[in-house]
Amino acid sequence: MEAERKNVCIVGGGLVGSLCACFIAKRGYKVDLFEMRQDFRADATVHGRSINLALSHRGLEALERVGLREKVTKSGIPMHARMIHSLDGKTRPIPYGRTGQFIMSVDRMGLNGVLLTEAESQPNITIHFGHKLVSCDPTTGETVFSTDDSTVKRTYDLIVGCDGAFSAVRKSMMRHCRFDYEQRYIEHGYMEIAFPPSESGGHCMATNYLHIWPRNQFMLIALPNLDGSFTGTMFMPFELFDQLKSPEAVVKFYRDTFPDALELLGEKTVVDTILSLKALPLVSIRCQPYHLNDKMLIIGDAAHAMVPFYGQGMNCGFEDCIILDDLMQQFGHDFGKVLPAFTNSRVEDAHAIVDLALYNYIEMRQSVNSVTFLLRKKLDNA
Ligand code: FAD
Repeated sequence: MEAERKNVCIVGGGLVGSLCACFIAKRGYKVDLFEMRQDFRADATVHGRSINLALSHRGLEALERVGLREKVTKSGIPMHARMIHSLDGKTRPIPYGRTGQFIMSVDRMGLNGVLLTEAESQPNITIHFGHKLVSCDPTTGETVFSTDDSTVKRTYDLIVGCDGAFSAVRKSMMRHCRFDYEQRYIEHGYMEIAFPPSESGGHCMATNYLHIWPRNQFMLIALPNLDGSFTGTMFMPFELFDQLKSPEAVVKFYRDTFPDALELLGEKTVVDTILSLKALPLVSIRCQPYHLNDKMLIIGDAAHAMVPFYGQGMNCGFEDCIILDDLMQQFGHDFGKVLPAFTNSRVEDAHAIVDLALYNYIEMRQSVNSVTFLLRKKLDNA
């Protein structure tokens, strides 16, 4: 069957699904991309606060392959080093690599928007917003989606699940084959907090850094945004979040642990944020295989959700797209060969990075405080 006559269904129009659609469409297949949410690009209210991500080499390489590297990096901010904030307010940088190497802070919605717009511009991709996958069959390729007022049934040659950590595609695979699955919630949750721009409109801390306040059992981090703000994230045990129940308790906690951050955030922001938001959970998922028959594949968080401490969840999902594309190049239209080869080449690496991400939490909140860590980094970068 010719490429253009094969139909591919991509479930999930998040970061990985929208990029995957661009890769697959370039191979000539007809692609339907289904996203359960409405199109956020049409909704001005979604663009309020910027939530950002660290984009690294893996992710940039994938963007390069679909011709989007320049467009995305133009609106990103290079971060050359971690900036460690001690309790006494002193700061010291620890470079990520050699001179000139960096990771980039990018806006999550902005990046997702660029990818969706690129997908939309391809003549062989149709995006269906407001379509939630209800079920799919790995033998026949049948899919059922629900919308606000109808049920949509379609049949595909290939279904790619990019529907995130709680993937419906993965759930359907679990029913049909010997599928190993392990899910782990850590005891720590996260909560975002916005550092405003300085009075002059610039950044209130050194711009080109990922700022970290490591406090051994918990930490605060902050990544820069183009508008002069930083998006901060507190990672702490749920037990600790639960103790912060009054304005006095919140302010005392910040004064004792993040005094320089408190000055930049202001007491009102800290109190309003912590008392009005709920800390969110963090989950790791390891599973295998990533495919079923010649019909179904999971990639991105659907296959390997990880805690964010290595900054690699999205980057690995983007790398999945490169690996899938290489295998399609190698095996042509034979999905019966492409999909098992994907599982074979990806599972071990993905499990390793899920583990590294868990380990890196200890490095970020604790080990960066140690002299041995600093000496090791100096030698690594020499
Ligand atoms: P998702 O982003 O979860 O997208 C899944 C999409 O599928 C969504 O749009 C959803 O609406 C849709 N969907 C779900 N179910 C259905 C259904 N049944 N039918 C139709 N559509 C459906 N990664 C990095 O690389 N760098 C970072 O710095 C980084 N920081 C992070 C910080 C935090 C606090 C967290 C929590 C994560 C971070 N990550 C980071 C991880 C990154 O967010 C994820 O790895 C990435 O979003 C995965 O993309 P995805 O497209 O696979 O899944």
